[in-house]
Order: sequence, then structure tokens, then C-alpha cells
Amino acid sequence: MIWDFDLKLNGCEEKSLPIKTIWRCKRMGKRWTIGEIKEFVEGNSESKLLTKEYRGFSQKLLFTCECGNNFEKTFKKFKNNHQRKCDVCQPPKMSR
Ligand SMILES: [Zn+2]
Repeated sequence: MIWDFDLKLNGCEEKSLPIKTIWRCKRMGKRWTIGEIKEFVEGNSESKLLTKEYRGFSQKLLFTCECGNNFEKTFKKFKNNHQRKCDVCQPPKMSR
């Protein structure tokens, strides 16, 4: 699986990308399924996904952090912004 590819996911809609990318878009499918997200979460973080249904990038998903806290985050933030832990383990803003 080429997970970093979908950073370009939005671009797929525009059809102004190199053929290669479009081909990958089609191959991967534009939408993530909850199963794929769960796989991503478990493969790329110490957190676990609690949400059972995925409706889109703007939906907040419920995770359990490795410390045991539950936290909510959109998958977009989780993946693209690398916010993969709860606010205690990974404060939203860097203080320095
Ligand atoms: Zn935590």
C-alpha cells in the first residue's frame, strides 16, 4: 500500500495531475473505508480506532490513545497533520 500517495487525494478530483497519479487514484479508490482507516491507524500509530463508520474527511473519529485516553480527531488531521495521539501525549500546539 502506498499510503503517502493520498496526500494528493484532493488533486485527483481536478484531473490536472500526471497520468501516473490518476492511475494510482483509480487503483486505490478515492474514498477510504473504515477498514482501511483502521489498518492505517494500527499500522502507523499506537492509537486504536473506536469509530465503526466513516463518512468523510470532515467527520471526527474516536480513537483510544496508547495512554488509555480517548480522543476525537478527523482522519485528515490524524494522517496529514500527524496528530496521532491524545492531547495529553501530543498537545495540539507546540509551546516552543
Ligand atoms: Zn495519550
